[in-house]
Amino acid sequence: MRDSPGLADIVIIGGGVIGLTIARALALRGVRDVCLVERGGLGTEASWAAAGMLLPQVEADAQDEFFNLACQSRDLYPAFAAALREETGIDVELDTTGTLYLALAENDQEQIEKRYEWQTRAGLNVELFGAAEARELEPCISESTLGALRFPKDIQVENRRLLSALANSVKNLGVEIVTQTSVDSLIIAGNRVHAVQTSRGRVNCSTVVIAAGSWSSFIKTSSQSPLPTIEPVRGQMVCLEAKLQLTRHVIYSPRGYLVPRHDGRLLAGSTSEHAGFAKCVTAGGISSILRNAIEISPAISDLPVIDTWAGLRPRAADGLPVLGPCGEIDGLFCATGHYRNGILLAPLTGELISEAIVSSQR
Ligand SMILES: Cc1cc2nc3c(=O)[nH]c(=O)nc-3n(C[C@H](O)[C@H](O)[C@H](O)COP(=O)(O)OP(=O)(O)OC[C@H]3O[C@@H](n4cnc5c(N)ncnc54)[C@H](O)[C@@H]3O)c2cc1C
Repeated sequence: MRDSPGLADIVIIGGGVIGLTIARALALRGVRDVCLVERGGLGTEASWAAAGMLLPQVEADAQDEFFNLACQSRDLYPAFAAALREETGIDVELDTTGTLYLALAENDQEQIEKRYEWQTRAGLNVELFGAAEARELEPCISESTLGALRFPKDIQVENRRLLSALANSVKNLGVEIVTQTSVDSLIIAGNRVHAVQTSRGRVNCSTVVIAAGSWSSFIKTSSQSPLPTIEPVRGQMVCLEAKLQLTRHVIYSPRGYLVPRHDGRLLAGSTSEHAGFAKCVTAGGISSILRNAIEISPAISDLPVIDTWAGLRPRAADGLPVLGPCGEIDGLFCATGHYRNGILLAPLTGELISEAIVSSQR
């Protein structure tokens, strides 16, 4: 941390995938004097806990604005991953095999047929398989499978490698990174941002980006307009060891999912719980994840469990991300509430927020 009082043009609060991606996008646009302040270590919260699935189509029931943004962000991933590799040498393991969405019960079958119909009508890439064809594609899936959709464009990234690549990239690009420091409050006067007060002193700045995930509403502000209300939604995960990888696709069902990693880990997820900020795994959570994972693939029953963890998804009241200028205060931007899709939405969020900041400074 600079000596207090510090000075930066732009302060980004939060070093998860969202704060890091915005910092990188600003630096790539030639913006100097960006300081990212992180309460703990970089990329150790929801972004670390995630499964890294990039699946706008799998769960979508309609082609609304959110769906279009999510597809746009997914489609930025190949170039995003390639650029990060070029900048840092880190391969973020973007796996483009695709996703298989299984129907394991009558209701599921109706749901996948509806999804197939609207997405084919909309000209989207989706394939409908019968049970035998699906099992031919991925022999590990349950014999009770009734049918499946394959989404060739819904892919996955190794989110922890992505965080390392982003952290290296922003350091190389000259962003100042301050860890183990929390931003406690924003100093706002005359309807514009003047500074942030951190646990290690004041930093004067003209622009602030709130990218503090589930903790975004805790930052105090002297202004009348409050920051958006963001709540944590806990997600637990189980990691299995599949020395010979059982599946190539991400395999999804209406109740759970399996994500194969290149190093033989097989992730099973997840839960969706309103449990405050208690970031722990529970007996009930782990048991429901394993039940749903075994429903997808009974073959996983013999695999060793090698890890479990939990993370807090940041959710706004309407479940949609909060992006852009915030509370009509000059210089204040929000990039939070990414809920279940922050890894997916990161590249687009970086583009949109950096563009909004640069335009506001013209
Ligand atoms: C189990 C699970 C599975 C998921 N799977 C997927 C998936 O497959 N695909 C997908 O797209 N998304 C997934 N998500 C959602 C995704 O992880 C989140 O949407 C995303 O990580 C949010 O990123 P973020 O940077 O906003 O938040 P975070 O990663 O939580 O980062 C916020 C950061 O802000 C810091 N901070 C907070 N307050 C302050 C402060 N006052 N001062 C300084 N720093 C502060 C925190 O320490 C933290 O590091 C999953 C989430 C979970 C929990």
